This record gives sequence, C-alpha cells and structure tokens, in this order.
Amino acid sequence: MSVLVEISDLRKSFGPLQVLRGIDLTVSRGEVVCVIGPSGSGKSTLLRCVNLLEEPTSGRVVVGGVELTDPDVDIDAARRRIGMVFQQFNLFSHLSVLDNLTIAQRKVLRRGRAEAERVARENLARVGLAEKVDAMPGQLSGGQQQRVAIARSLSMAPELMLFDEPTSALDPELVGDVLGVMRQLADDGMTMMVVTHEMQFAREVADRVLFMDGGVIVEQGPADQVIGAPRHERTRTFLARVL
Ligand code: ADP
Ligand code: MG
Repeated sequence: MSVLVEISDLRKSFGPLQVLRGIDLTVSRGEVVCVIGPSGSGKSTLLRCVNLLEEPTSGRVVVGGVELTDPDVDIDAARRRIGMVFQQFNLFSHLSVLDNLTIAQRKVLRRGRAEAERVARENLARVGLAEKVDAMPGQLSGGQQQRVAIARSLSMAPELMLFDEPTSALDPELVGDVLGVMRQLADDGMTMMVVTHEMQFAREVADRVLFMDGGVIVEQGPADQVIGAPRHERTRTFLARVL
C-alpha cells in the first residue's frame, strides 16, 4: 500500500510545555488509524499538526507527497486535501444544510452552483440525510449536525479525513449513527485518523490503534493487540479506566 501520511520526529511546544515529544508515524492510503489516550496526552495537537491548524515546533509532516512543514508550501492548497471533523460540529448556523455544504466548494474549489449542489446532495445521501437538504442546522439533532459536518468535509473530496472525538459531544443514543457513517467511510476506502474514546469502534474499524501518553506514542498495533492485550502498564491503566 502506498504511503499517504508521513510524520517524522514531530515536536510541538506551547511555551515551556512540550506537548508532542517526537512522533513518528506513517499512514498508508486506505488505512484507518485510531488514536487513544488520556486527556492532555497530545492527541488533538497531533491531528492539528497534520493539517497545520498548529504549526509544529520541529519535525516533518508529509501528506500525499507534499511536505506541509516546508516553509514554502502552499498551505491552503495542501489543507484542501485534508478534511477535519471536530467534537463541536462548527456548522454555519445561519445557513441551510445545502449552503453549508456548497459554500466552501464554491469559494475554495471554485465549483459552479449546479456542480456544488450535486456534490452536496450526493454526500448528504451518503450520510443518510438526503431529506434534510433545506433544513437549518438548529432544526437537526446533534448526531444529524455531525453527519452534515462529515458530508461537508466529504464534499471537498479530501484524500485524508481527521476526526477529533466526533461523538464526544453527542447524547449516547445519537452516537451510533455517526459511528455508522464513519464505518461506511472506512469501508469505502477513505484514509482516516480518528481520535476516539469509542473502544468498540476502534476494535471493529481500526486497522491500527495508537496509544498516546505524555506526547509520545507509547504503543501501537492491531486493535486486538493494543486494546485486547496491551503490553505497557500505562496502556493497561488507561484502558482499565475507560473500558
Ligand atoms: P488531548 O487531545 O490528548 O486531550 P491536547 O493535544 O488537546 O490533548 O493537549 C495537550 C496539552 O497541550 C494539554 O496540556 C493542553 O492544555 C495543551 N495545549 C493544547 N493546545 C494549547 C494551546 N493552544 N496553548 C497552550 N497549551 C495548549
Ligand atoms: Mg483532544
């Protein structure tokens, strides 16, 4: 399998606080990597460094052959190929679902209205919300809003999708639908990095699980190994708390 993401010796500090302390990670095209670990271990910062929402202090991040950490890179062009879905859905509350899905396609990708709307409807159908095309975000449940946010990202035709605890803000009964959409996306071959506390999802969908603590990857491997038979004491302690 070809490599999509290559991270070498990635370090990130906020002032004196070293949050990422040397991350090496390669993600192949089509691979689903779940990142688990305690709060404050640097999971969000890692994802944010992969699309340069945070500027790494040092190290290299390469996505699809483009080095994002090269000072001369066209960062907007590079970022366009990476979708990100957050815990808070960040929809534009004053825009309809359709407009939420078309605005960046039109402004950033310069697609015409007809094409942008076609792509939007296609992706809404993909997340099971074709009939909500004219709704306002406030009329939707949290789970539906998160699925719209996923459809909005997909409308930009990303090569890589980053998910940062996409179900953590949802009522428990709404989590399953969002995980179902993510599972479908994984089955369709999308390359995904997913920070999650949903261990069952990680076990069923991840090709690889990373356990982070204190800004380093403590261990990684197939889900059955890392979650089912962790080698490190820190992993065991964490899992004992969340399982
Ligand atoms: P996680 O997602 O694993 O909970 P984060 O990556 O969000 O961890 O944060 C790791 C550490 O970095 C935490 O101690 C957090 O307070 C700190 N941190 C994150 N972002 C910033 C920032 N912009 N400025 C200062 N400290 C930050
Ligand atoms: Mg986080």
